[in-house]
Amino acid sequence: MYFKNLFLTVMLSISSAATYAQSANAFRQPYPLGEKISPNPHFTGEVWLAPLSEHRELNVPMFNVTFEPGCRNSWHLHKGGQILIATAGIGYYQEKGQPARRLFPGDIVEIAPDVEHWHGAAPDSWFAHVTVECNPQTNAALWLDPVSDEQYCEATAEAENRYAEANKTLTAREQTIVAVASYTGRGDLEHLKPALAAALEAGMTVNEVNEVLIHAYAYCGFPRSLRAIQTFMQVVDERKAKGIDDSVGREATVREDNCSRYERGRDVLAEISGVPSDAPKAGYAVFAPTVERFLKEHLFADIFERDLLTYRERELATVSVLAGVGGVEPMAYGHMSICLHLGITAEQLSALLNIVETNLGKSYSEPLRKVLTQLTVKI
Ligand code: MN
Repeated sequence: MYFKNLFLTVMLSISSAATYAQSANAFRQPYPLGEKISPNPHFTGEVWLAPLSEHRELNVPMFNVTFEPGCRNSWHLHKGGQILIATAGIGYYQEKGQPARRLFPGDIVEIAPDVEHWHGAAPDSWFAHVTVECNPQTNAALWLDPVSDEQYCEATAEAENRYAEANKTLTAREQTIVAVASYTGRGDLEHLKPALAAALEAGMTVNEVNEVLIHAYAYCGFPRSLRAIQTFMQVVDERKAKGIDDSVGREATVREDNCSRYERGRDVLAEISGVPSDAPKAGYAVFAPTVERFLKEHLFADIFERDLLTYRERELATVSVLAGVGGVEPMAYGHMSICLHLGITAEQLSALLNIVETNLGKSYSEPLRKVLTQLTVKI
């Protein structure tokens, strides 16, 4: 966590969007950015506002608000209440005296009248939400003190570190593999960047980190894998420019074997899954035998035989990529079973999902928590 806290402090002390490669216009979100309304006495940081509804007679004013990383509004309350709908990036909402709630796209916050609160971006993320002004005939905002850097750091760090103790069932190296792989699967390059730096800080070599990104292509395709590798090139170059000498590490051992790639891949799969290689073929293996051959020859032979990662690390990476991809629960089921067969515990898989929940949100972690429950009930 030292790296993360340092990162936070640096990000908060160097103000302005200029320090981010991603400018406001490059931030991908469904609604318009609108006009910059900062500097503004009710906000700490840069903020943009776009009205979303045109017909005043409809009487439900809605706005899109975009916050640069670290930006938040002051403590305030609404006389008629407010509804927030998170639409892009990662943000926070906190009511006075309560823990801060981390917000991801799709999350809805209902704020009752006269409840003191603030909302804004995460320290390392752009964030946008739609605001719906309730009871507009009588509603008014009452602005109070700014959210100090200390209050903001405490609230956001608490939310980020909520699972820190439980996550210690995974090593620091494994935790960074999970973060890197899940961001790669999701295609979230903004957050992948610091995660890649954290992997190097955790002692992984450049070749080992590259191996996670190469491995990922089998599960999320070349475009996401190559964008992740390009992002990693940038990270390594930037660190080199700062005088950090990251170890490249050894190459994968070249394997000499007379067996066919199909047979080698078949045996690797049998070893990691515990399912005998002569078990009758079913499902897609019968319907599309070509893809079954590609899986054995290429994925389980060419890729899995490379010894820069252990099978255990490859499977943790696989489940994490699949979590980031989303909507592939049958594959997640298969790979979580392989994890359990390799001796990865249910607690460790739960820690993996905690990291996914913190980084990508519950809409990515919850479907796989259900899969984990199915698997552990079966045991
Ligand atoms: Mn509000």
